[in-house]
Amino acid sequence: MNAYDADKMADIMCSDRNMERTDDPSKASVLLLNTCSIREKPQEKVFSQLGRWQVYKKTNPNVVIGVGGCVASQEGKSIVKRAPYVDIVFGPQTLHRLPQMYDQVVASRRSVVDISFPKTEKFDFLPKTNLIKPSAFVTIIEGCSKFCSFCVVPYTRGLEVSRPPEQILDEINHLASMGVREVTLLGQNVNAYRAKNSEGARIKLSQLIDQVTTIENIDRIRFTTSHPLQFSHDLIESFSNKKLANFLHLPVQSGSNRILELMKRKHTVETYIAKINKLKKVRPNISISSDFIVGFPGETEDDFRQTMALIETIGFDQSFSFIFSPRPQTPAASMKDTTSYDEKLDRLKRLQAKISSNAMKISKSMVGTSQRILVEKKSKKVKTQLAGRTENNRWVNFDGPENLIGQFIDLTITEALPNSLRGRLYH
Ligand code: SAM
Ligand code: SF4
Repeated sequence: MNAYDADKMADIMCSDRNMERTDDPSKASVLLLNTCSIREKPQEKVFSQLGRWQVYKKTNPNVVIGVGGCVASQEGKSIVKRAPYVDIVFGPQTLHRLPQMYDQVVASRRSVVDISFPKTEKFDFLPKTNLIKPSAFVTIIEGCSKFCSFCVVPYTRGLEVSRPPEQILDEINHLASMGVREVTLLGQNVNAYRAKNSEGARIKLSQLIDQVTTIENIDRIRFTTSHPLQFSHDLIESFSNKKLANFLHLPVQSGSNRILELMKRKHTVETYIAKINKLKKVRPNISISSDFIVGFPGETEDDFRQTMALIETIGFDQSFSFIFSPRPQTPAASMKDTTSYDEKLDRLKRLQAKISSNAMKISKSMVGTSQRILVEKKSKKVKTQLAGRTENNRWVNFDGPENLIGQFIDLTITEALPNSLRGRLYH
């Protein structure tokens, strides 16, 4: 989501203020830092990065420095207090106002802070992107209204607001006309998507997916992230449509009902398993990945073992897993936590080793099979090679001509490596 937001910041400054993107901070007249506050560590990095950028302002006082994203949303004015050389502070819902905030700074040389939550106004102002890659993200819902006890998102991104379906379809049609072949529908909980179309009919995620599948040239659809609670029957049925990738990211966080209740996730391990079993009836060999938090306050070794048991039962392929990080304003931050950091780290390592081993087993089972990949770019390591992703989200590197970039092709998988696969084109 932050990658998508960062592209939108660049899009609007390029189109409305005629700027150009650069990856070299010493050449920039505007430096924008997009931030994340989901855990403490990324938040700490913000001020060290700002400190490094301060030197550019010393050499050129006209340089404008902006801080956006969830740390900005949470800290607001205090960012300018701690780093007075920051000119603009904007939140995830006000990034479309960047050009006006920039003008204000240039005219007054005083800092501007806007971290409000205007509903979906943002999308009415954002220009159509000209940064086209074969696979693109499209936000369909903003914010979150779930208030899990550990999570800062509802406070920093605001409550759930769905974009009108016509606006989303219009954006995807534009992307398709520019050569995009795969879209990922994006949101904190995309399956909470509910919006009225221009005729007043209520549209859910499954119906939106149906409409996206009719767009010419969009041949693969993904969505992320979805919440187990609203992973509904109709969404499961959507997987009978072959354009939906054979991969689902469905965060579970813990395999212990006691911890799930403390986390306020509002579902049990049993209902999670039942939903996955239903999905596997529609897609028997689907890859399922998840998010886990280890060391939630009060998590015992027994609770953790239940998480490991769930990993075995589902056979999770890939995960985002982290040690619990207490976040300001959240109820879990003040819960009693007696587990030592070493113990938490040990649990995290055991969990990650188990999931890596599952992922490797799945990768090895793909060797010798034919896989459809979307060729996205030149390979990072070997210049003559290209790289594309399989339906189950694995990068495959292979020898091939550059004109394949942007196309779906079938490959034979020849080797499974820890973080990628190797493949061979059919001749
Ligand atoms: N909405 C999604 C869901 O319900 O699972 C997840 C979105 S959240 C931005 C991404 C992940 O960050 C969560 O699934 C969780 O594993 C992790 N996370 C959130 N708050 C955390 C915290 N306080 N400490 C550690 N990890 C956290
Ligand atoms: Fe955070 Fe996801 Fe829970 Fe929303 S549903 S509060 S984004 S973890």
